[in-house]
Amino acid sequence: MRILLIEDEKYIARAVAEVLKKSHYAVDVVHDGNEGLAYGATGIYDLIVLDIMLPGLDGLSILKKLRADGLTTPVILLTARNATTDKVSGLDAGADDYLPKPFHTEELLARIRALARRNPGYVDEGALEFSDLCLAPWTLTLSCGGRQIQLSVKVAQLLELLMVNKGAIVAKETILRKLWGFDADAGSNHVEAHVSLLRKALAQAGSRAGVKAVRGLGYRLVEPQEPQELQADSLSPARPSAGQAPVSQCSV
Ligand code: CA
Repeated sequence: MRILLIEDEKYIARAVAEVLKKSHYAVDVVHDGNEGLAYGATGIYDLIVLDIMLPGLDGLSILKKLRADGLTTPVILLTARNATTDKVSGLDAGADDYLPKPFHTEELLARIRALARRNPGYVDEGALEFSDLCLAPWTLTLSCGGRQIQLSVKVAQLLELLMVNKGAIVAKETILRKLWGFDADAGSNHVEAHVSLLRKALAQAGSRAGVKAVRGLGYRLVEPQEPQELQADSLSPARPSAGQAPVSQCSV
C-alpha cells in the first residue's frame, strides 16, 4: 500500500513517515499544499493522510479539488483537537476519517488498517488471499499450504498490489509508481527484477499461483489449471480433487 502524507510540520511528518515505513507501507511525504494536490491527483496512492493547515493550499481545499476530480482514494484528515468545524467541514468535503492532533501513531495505524479493510481485496486484519496464497503485508509473511516464507518489503508490496487486483492486469507503470514513487530513479528493469524475485518466492512457497506477463500491458496473478487435475477429473468425475479445494490460508 502506498500512502501520501501531506503535513508541513516536518518533525511530525518525519515521525509519522517512519512509523508507516516500519509497518511496511510505502510513503511519500510533501510539506506544501500545492505540491500535495499535485501528488494526490496522480491517483497512485491507496490512502492520503492530510493536514488541514498547510502553506500554499489548505487541506480542505485539496480534498475538495481531489473529490471534484473524481478521486475516491480514502483520506484521513488531521484536525486540531476539539475543532468541531474542522471535523464537520472535513467530512462534508469528502474525508473518510479524521484524527485530532496530537495523536498516537498506533491510532493512525489502526485507522489506516480500518480503511484498508474497506477495500474488498483484503480479508480479516488486512491480509490478502489469492488461490492458495495468504499475504500478511504488515509482517511480510506469505503463507501457502501450511508453509510460511518471509518476503522482502518490495516483493511483498508487489504481491499485495497484484493480489488486491485479484488476477486483473496491473500496468508496469502502476507497479513502478506504487513501489518506487516519483523520486526514485527506478525503471522498468526494477519491476522485471522484482517480478522475477516474486516468481521465485511463489515457487519456494509451493504455490499453484503464478505471475503472468501480458505483453505491452503489465502483469497479473494467475491460477493455472493443473493438467493432472483435469485428467483426474475427466477419468473419475466423482473423485474429489484432494488438496485442490480453495481452503483459506488466511487464519489470522
Ligand atoms: Ca499544519
